[in-house]
Amino acid sequence: MSDTSKGQPAAMVPLSTKPAKTRPVRTPGAKTACIRTFGCQMNVHDSDRIRRMVLDAGYAEVPSYEEADLVILNTCYVRENAVDRVRGHLGELTRLRREGRVKKVALTGCIGAAQESTELQRQYGIDLVLGTHNTYELAEFVGLPTMEETYTPDLPGTQGDNSAFVTIMTGCNYQCSYCIVPTVRGRMVCRPVESILEEVERLVRNGTSYITLLGQTVDAWRENGLKFCDLLERVAEIAPRIWFTTSHPSNMEDRTLRLIGEKETIVKRLHLPVQSGSDRMLRIMHRGYKAERYRRKIEVFRDAAPDGTLSTDIIVGHPGETEEDHEETLKLVEDCSFDSAYVFKFSPRKGTEAAGIPGRVPEDVVQRRFLQVLRKIEQNAFTRNRRRIGVHEDIYIRHGQRPDGVAIGETWNGHAVHVRTGAPEGHYVTAEITSAGPHVLYARDPKT
Ligand code: SF4
Repeated sequence: MSDTSKGQPAAMVPLSTKPAKTRPVRTPGAKTACIRTFGCQMNVHDSDRIRRMVLDAGYAEVPSYEEADLVILNTCYVRENAVDRVRGHLGELTRLRREGRVKKVALTGCIGAAQESTELQRQYGIDLVLGTHNTYELAEFVGLPTMEETYTPDLPGTQGDNSAFVTIMTGCNYQCSYCIVPTVRGRMVCRPVESILEEVERLVRNGTSYITLLGQTVDAWRENGLKFCDLLERVAEIAPRIWFTTSHPSNMEDRTLRLIGEKETIVKRLHLPVQSGSDRMLRIMHRGYKAERYRRKIEVFRDAAPDGTLSTDIIVGHPGETEEDHEETLKLVEDCSFDSAYVFKFSPRKGTEAAGIPGRVPEDVVQRRFLQVLRKIEQNAFTRNRRRIGVHEDIYIRHGQRPDGVAIGETWNGHAVHVRTGAPEGHYVTAEITSAGPHVLYARDPKT
């Protein structure tokens, strides 16, 4: 998908690939299905659509391959080793099939849309291969009537009953040198505004309190003269809490940044991938903006939401990156004072322009640059986070109490907070921040 999907984040928590928490009770003799999700939030969202089809077809979802009649691998193609990783799973599934356990295997998602899928299907005898554009064909495979593609099957919340992703656009019209997304997800398609609002209204009516608008370049959304900012404003009138990801600096309007600060239902957290602080590298990467323009956007955001959080994506070691380019990136990191970042070491993806660009940066140099960027970001984040100590925050509980008694919440400024509370997910507690690390704040036990 977006700029966040090039690999494992180095400084933020990766998305879970575990099955959904809420599963129907399994009745004896029922058909069973196991869904494995790899990669980005778009894939997590697609897996929810897949889950809905599978459950509608009478399957019970199970957590392990051993218990499953049907296994669906919803795959990601963004990392160079992505196919190898999926091969590992397919090898295990072949063994389970030989033992008579797993009966059918389907491969969906970005690898399904890539050339390698033909070879994988032949080698591992995969029963069904679907790309990102025709996931709906799974319906027929699991025994449902043939479906037309829709953006929004009637989804339960993606992360739990209280929060949900709402896809507003798919695909991408950019051609970043290192990215396979435009090849596997296609060009941008924007979902009609009325359809988005209807879904948000329905989710909120049914108790969803946190909506995340989702798209490869979410802020590129537009329809009949309306732009992303107009949509965001309308959704923010309906949803009690709202966020969006992932944005592209070239699409990000100043009025959107100001709206984040103004509208109390919008979480004051901006993820705006920059990738490099060097204009030369930004040009080679085809990012479509210069570092100065990016800095200016950040100024507008900091002005609109001074305590808000800012995160980014940075690639180190893109072919052709010199020491001067790297210094420019460090300078930009310093200037923007990010609260967190996904820092990626460049890894060439077959089918991308960058894979053929000469000037490969030696691995030890990439590693050094990676650590330098990471350290700078952590130092900045630590300094900024410490400023929150002593502040009383309204904390939205995202993940309920763990066995150690701690729940994970989020402030209106988008900070992650550890707080000792039994408050259920989707509820708020108010607590004082007592300490801070580079990635998370810690709160005093809230008064009950
Ligand atoms: S091509 Fe560029 S803008 Fe589009 S998804 Fe890839 S990294 Fe993001």
